[in-house]
Parts: sequence; structure tokens; C-alpha cells
Amino acid sequence: RFATSTAVEKIVTPHQDPENSPVYTRVNATFVILCRNDQLWDTIRSVREIEDKFNHKYHYPYVFLNEVPFDEEFKYRLKTMASSTTEFGLIPREHWFQPDWIDEDKASKSRDKMQSENIIYGGSLSYRNMCRFNSGFFFRHPLMEKYKWYWRIEPDVHFHCNILIDPFRYMEEHNKVYAFTISMVEYEATIPTLWGHVKGRIPCRLFAFCVLDFIKLHPEFVEKKTLWASYQTMAPGIGTICAIVLWSNFEIANMEFWRGEAYMKFFEYLDSQGGFYYERWGDAPVHSIAAALFASRDQIHFFDEIGYEHAPYTHCPKEGDNWARGKCTCKPDNNFDFDGISCLNKFQNFMKQA
Ligand code: GDP
Ligand code: MN
Repeated sequence: RFATSTAVEKIVTPHQDPENSPVYTRVNATFVILCRNDQLWDTIRSVREIEDKFNHKYHYPYVFLNEVPFDEEFKYRLKTMASSTTEFGLIPREHWFQPDWIDEDKASKSRDKMQSENIIYGGSLSYRNMCRFNSGFFFRHPLMEKYKWYWRIEPDVHFHCNILIDPFRYMEEHNKVYAFTISMVEYEATIPTLWGHVKGRIPCRLFAFCVLDFIKLHPEFVEKKTLWASYQTMAPGIGTICAIVLWSNFEIANMEFWRGEAYMKFFEYLDSQGGFYYERWGDAPVHSIAAALFASRDQIHFFDEIGYEHAPYTHCPKEGDNWARGKCTCKPDNNFDFDGISCLNKFQNFMKQA
């Protein structure tokens, strides 16, 4: 179980407050946006949307991160858009670039092969740096260290509904660790080994090996009543473990979980296997399997009420009167939740297990 620390910082807001009080106690939380300077306008639109739908009432801060310095225009326009403090961070070299001990010859062969197989971002080195950074480093950036909770936002995403609760507070008060809106079957080609070693049980290859090896090395980190335990009850074959990936372009999570011993050891183990470069392991499967192993099942939360779009998929609220309450602009029928590759159904069935 993950220990929670208490909320910090009382603020007085001139805006009408959904918690019915002029004094609102914000949770120790921030938005985090990793992006490039040339994504300025897509980033502006994402921030404008989250401000309109949520943050104009709460004023949670923003941290923008980049492996090159943000330019003056970027900083000026994003500061203008935000109703709260903004900080612009440079990512330390060693948190971003391919480490020296990676065999570049082997890595470049893998990129060429994946490129020729038309695997999405298969030939991209910068994408691999990004996935490794999001897996193991963003929560250790000096600007992030003071915060407990983060909400990850990307350029060019959409928030379709008014958000009537403070999701950070919800997470804190319910002792949650990780929240998502979209879940799906992972594209196996990018993680041939992240999954494969699971002795016929799991359809993908190397990542799975690594995960199982880690569990053997460190069984003490695996929590009780996990999603992992639920996975073990599934029929073997396609649609088992690597099937459940929580889409990490939207995440609200507790960074103490990533900073804790279990996850740090897990990340270091995966990193040492080189799969971020020899394959193209994504931060979504890494985060998802870690949450499945090291958090208990009820610490993982699905936010139905947050209408969210990251092309090409949309999650639109559908439970109870969530769509009406949020005055959503998405069509509830046009909903990734009902898609054949969505894992929401599976997730919700697991949550009902004894
Ligand atoms: P996708 O969602 O998997 O298609 O990947 P994206 O292109 O959206 O990248 C994921 C996140 O990382 C987004 O927030 C991007 O802005 C960011 N990102 C991707 N590549 C880079 C990069 O080379 N530098 C920086 N600074 N950000 C990047
Ligand atoms: Mn994206």
C-alpha cells in the first residue's frame, strides 16, 4: 500500500469554487507537459482546454519539460494561457539521451528493422528517448521533486467536459495511485520481449521475460490483490497480460509510487536490459505493468467523468448522468470504451473480482 501525505497550501480564489468555499486547499500537485518548441500552438490549445474545463477554478501549477531550452515565445504564450504558476525545465542530458553502454550498432539495426516493418515510430531514436524519459526520469526532474501528484498532458489533446471535481483530491482522499481514461491492447510489435518470456502464457516476448525475471528476483515488491493477480486468472493466449495497457498520454498519478523502491528497481532492471533502445518499449506498458504489480487493484482508478481525446481515440463519459453534468462535447456512442481493442471491460470485470 502506498502511504499518503497530507494536502498543502491554502489558496483563496476569487472564482466560484465547486467545493463551495472561498478557501480551497489544493493538493500537492502539478500538470506536467513534455513537448518541443515547435509544438507551441498544439500545447496552447491543450492548456486552454484544461483551463476552461477545470483549472480556472483551481490554479494548479504547470511544469513544462524539454531536452532543449524553451524559447522566449513559447514561455511568453504559455505563461499567458495559464491561470497559475508556470515553470519551464531543461531535462538533464543523462535523463534523455541514449546511454553510452547501449550498443549503438545493435540499436540502429533494430531501428532499421522496425522501420522497414512499418512499426509506428520504429525508426525513431528521439521517440525512444522520450519513452525512456517518461518511464524513469520525469518524476525526478528538479522542478517535479517538490510535487506528489501530477497530471500528464500532451499537446493536441482535448478535454470534452467540464470537470466538476478535483481529480487530485479524489486520488488523495481515496488512496489511489494511478488513474487513466483510455486503456487498450498494446501493439505487440514494439515490445517483442517486454512480454514474451511468460512461458506460453503471454503472447508478446522480451518485455514479458524481463518482467517475469524481475518478479523472480524481487517477489517482495509484488503487492497483494493486484491487477497482476487478476491477469493470472485469464485464459492464456492473445488478450492476456500485455493486453492491458493504460494509455499514458493521460495519467494522473502519485509520484511517490514511481520514486519508491519497487518501481525504481523495476525501471533500473528494465533499463539495464536495453529494451528501450534494442526494441521500442513504451512508457505506457512499463507504467501499466508496474501499477499492476506494485499497487493494489483498488488503487488504480478509471475516471469516467473526464472526457478525453488523443487522436485517434476518445473516451466520452457514459456512466449515470456524467455526460450531462459535464456538458460534454463528445458523442457518448463514439467511444473507445466500446472498441474491440479497449480493455476497459476487462479492467472493470477484474475490479469486481473477490
Ligand atoms: P504518441 O502520443 O505516442 O504518438 O507520441 P507523441 O509524439 O505525442 O509524444 C509523446 C509526448 O512526448 C508528447 O507530449 C510530445 O510532445 C513529447 N515528445 C515526443 N518527442 C519529443 C522530443 O523529441 N522532445 C520533446 N521535448 N518532447 C517530445
Ligand atoms: Mn501523443
